[in-house]
Amino acid sequence: MRLILLGAPASGKGTQAAVLTEKFGVPKISTGDMLRAAVKAGTPLGREADTLMKGGKLVPDSVVIGLVEERLKESDAQKGFILDGFPRTVAQAEALDALLKRLGVGLDFIVQIDVPRDLLMERATLRRTDKRTGQIYHLKYSPPPSDADLEHRADDQEETVKKRLDAYDAQTAALLPHYEQLGVLRRVDGVGSPKEVTTRMLSQITG
Ligand code: AMP
Repeated sequence: MRLILLGAPASGKGTQAAVLTEKFGVPKISTGDMLRAAVKAGTPLGREADTLMKGGKLVPDSVVIGLVEERLKESDAQKGFILDGFPRTVAQAEALDALLKRLGVGLDFIVQIDVPRDLLMERATLRRTDKRTGQIYHLKYSPPPSDADLEHRADDQEETVKKRLDAYDAQTAALLPHYEQLGVLRRVDGVGSPKEVTTRMLSQITG
């Protein structure tokens, strides 16, 4: 299974990617997770990305394309992958097309998760992650257990989320026509519980 999850920040890509990874036995490749790991490790890339991420801006195409190229060459990605948060610009999509062509593989599905903007705001600002397990919770819809060690992503503050949603509308929404042409784009209503969204998604890609 080679699949891309497309959707605005807090549309549920990370949550659904974790489920699909289990179901299809392929790795989840999240550029956001890779960049956050670089920030935590304090690498030069992490320092560059940190400022941009905190400002709700995209990291340069060349940086994320390089990260994904390296990651896709690793052995566990040879049997497939779930891409979460990449591509986010037309240049990234074109670079991915070229890379997959070189590797001699194609995409099975691009799944677009649709969620209205007011709900995205609420999801992002009330989203919390358990530092130890990486499990994602929501203070209202999916409350964490009392012993969770929670962190609130720096870029999930209200003003930053607005900027990230604007970046999505300005740059990432332009990918839809690109993938529509390939005939493998599927749209899923992302409003509802994670389980409901998973069921809808699986019926689109396996049904
Ligand atoms: P995410 O966890 O996917 O919401 O990504 C968090 C932040 O990392 C984004 O707001 C961007 O600053 C950066 N980022 C992640 N993936 C990409 C990408 N494909 N292109 C550019 N910036 C990215």
